[in-house]
Amino acid sequence: MSYQSRKNQAVINLAALKQNYQKISALAPQSETIAVIKANSYGHGLTAVAKHLDKIAPALAVAFIDEAITLRSAGINSPILILEGPLCEQDFAIAEQENFWLMLHNTVQLNWLTKRSAPFTQKIWIKVDTGMHRLGFAPENIPKIIKTLDNEQKNNLVLCTHFSSAEELDNPKTLAQITSLHSVAELFPCQTSLANSAGIINWQQSHGDYNRLGIALYGANPATSYDLPMDLTPVMTLQSTIIALRDLNVGDKVGYGEIWQAERPSRIATIAIGYADGYPRCAKAGTPVLINGQLAPLAGRVSMDMITVDVTDLKPVKIGDMVELWGENLSVETVAKHLDTINYELLTRVSARVPRVYRT
Ligand SMILES: *Cc1c(COP(=O)(O)O)cnc(C)c1O
Repeated sequence: MSYQSRKNQAVINLAALKQNYQKISALAPQSETIAVIKANSYGHGLTAVAKHLDKIAPALAVAFIDEAITLRSAGINSPILILEGPLCEQDFAIAEQENFWLMLHNTVQLNWLTKRSAPFTQKIWIKVDTGMHRLGFAPENIPKIIKTLDNEQKNNLVLCTHFSSAEELDNPKTLAQITSLHSVAELFPCQTSLANSAGIINWQQSHGDYNRLGIALYGANPATSYDLPMDLTPVMTLQSTIIALRDLNVGDKVGYGEIWQAERPSRIATIAIGYADGYPRCAKAGTPVLINGQLAPLAGRVSMDMITVDVTDLKPVKIGDMVELWGENLSVETVAKHLDTINYELLTRVSARVPRVYRT
């Protein structure tokens, strides 16, 4: 039996997803825009988002091959880029069969490829470490790596890199990374891929044959210090409801550890969402939630299944009223700032017990 008494949900606006994709990909008309849907589509639901993008995006990207296999099982036919590449030798056989593009970034992976007896005919992505120093081969090693590929693979090659700071408009690092990648890529007849969301939006010079669009697809801003130069619509709106209300006297304390104390007669609303749903426990007093169009500050520690907020200054609210934790009317960026984190983390950590409800 499927029954939902608790009304928590993450409403996923699929029309907005499509509009965001179209708006951002229009910034790079010469590039193919790959939709990055790793980590459960940044918390929005892996297969539902993939199904909606399958006919729109030329390819999808996930972190590791398990996620891609889930997509094939759900009937998704687009090519799928595996951003961490093969994590075991067998991944090559699966990739060959399933039309997965593997991003190769270390010599162990290369050895798995070169010792294969069967041909590998899928596109090969080789990751160049142009300065992020997380994954990839040093630029000066690329020529000798490419020499080890067979001719078919050499003709089916994408040289790619990843930016460490593309959301920082005055950081010269991005241009240095672009120059580094281009200086290797010009030596070979290959395709290129550099840009993430911030690259697509801020660095036109970074647009390659493929760009890799993640966070902005979901209507979220890759930067924390400025607004985007375009209107995107948040795709996820996270909702819960008020399940209790009480009036407190001056000096009464709220929640675990008694970390919040009423400094005036106060009305406290208890809302049915907590850290087990992905609302972070580190949220501090004052973190806003939205109730009936009015902002209310968090009061007291986040529990596993509940939070408490101060609704003293709000027009009357009642049990059952809907609460927006973040989304279309309260930006996930605003909430993230109060939590000393970023929108990426809040979106991806919405847990499995919150039903995703899809609106077209
Ligand atoms: C996650 C990821 C992206 C997408 O980044 P956004 O900032 O979400 O656009 C692109 N490329 C790689 C290699 C990634 O891991």
